[in-house]
Amino acid sequence: MDRASAPSSRSRGPDAADAAVFADTGTSQAFIDVTKHRGLASLAGFPFEVRTSDSTREQARRLAERCAKAYSYLGDVLAFRPRCALVVLSRADWSERASNPAYVMPYCSGGNLFLHGEPSDLTAWLEEVAGSAPVAATRELDQIYGTGADRLAPFADMLVVHELAHAFHDGVPFVFPRSWLMELFADMALYAFVTAEEPDRRLHFETLPRVALEHGLLKPVARDLRYFEAFYPYIEPLTYVWYQFRFTMMAKGLVDAAGPNVLRRLWDAFALTDEQLAGVLGDRVQPAAGQWLASWDEVPR
Ligand SMILES: [Zn+2]
Repeated sequence: MDRASAPSSRSRGPDAADAAVFADTGTSQAFIDVTKHRGLASLAGFPFEVRTSDSTREQARRLAERCAKAYSYLGDVLAFRPRCALVVLSRADWSERASNPAYVMPYCSGGNLFLHGEPSDLTAWLEEVAGSAPVAATRELDQIYGTGADRLAPFADMLVVHELAHAFHDGVPFVFPRSWLMELFADMALYAFVTAEEPDRRLHFETLPRVALEHGLLKPVARDLRYFEAFYPYIEPLTYVWYQFRFTMMAKGLVDAAGPNVLRRLWDAFALTDEQLAGVLGDRVQPAAGQWLASWDEVPR
């Protein structure tokens, strides 16, 4: 969700090269920073690696099962399957391994999806927000989420699909021309997946964002898209959540109106493989520029 509690995988790649495993260069340029896996338990049986703290195996398996379904769904829609790994961490392991010690936001970096194996502070903050909502909002939230402790945990668990969507564009690799568009893409992927594969959970996914926006439950320090672009990802956490809720409702509007293929159209508008990039460089910059990628290894080092 927050790609940035950390430096991006791209900015970190070269420095980590000696420790990273370059994966399947024939089909994907993504690498996985395996230094983050050391000392963690491994769960087998998934189309990606799953690493977990000892104490969070059960949650890791639940997240991996949803992620495997989403991997297959998004792989079919986008005709691409990236290399990636799930890294599910306890609170104690998170502070040692994640780029930001705060146990708040899941994120994707270096081919790894960093996920919470225990209820995160983000979930606790959202519980607080929901718990102090006005009567009309409370009625709507209670109807969907009940009134028990950790009632928003199932909502937070769905965010794994948002992180997986980031692994897809990181894996080509390509970047969207605006950060907000990248985040909208991830929320579209999540909403399209829930609608297609877990329709009975759709209300669990969309009710909190809708009610929070309609009843003004969050108090963002800014609401301007240009603010988001200028300060992303260093945005106050609940303001960041407000923006994500806006993107979620935009994603819902788009997918409901145009169908899940709108996700593929957004992808096709910006995804640029190395071959396509070489074509653009050769056609639009300078003919020799089209050879830069191919001739990289021929130049004396
Ligand atoms: Zn995100």
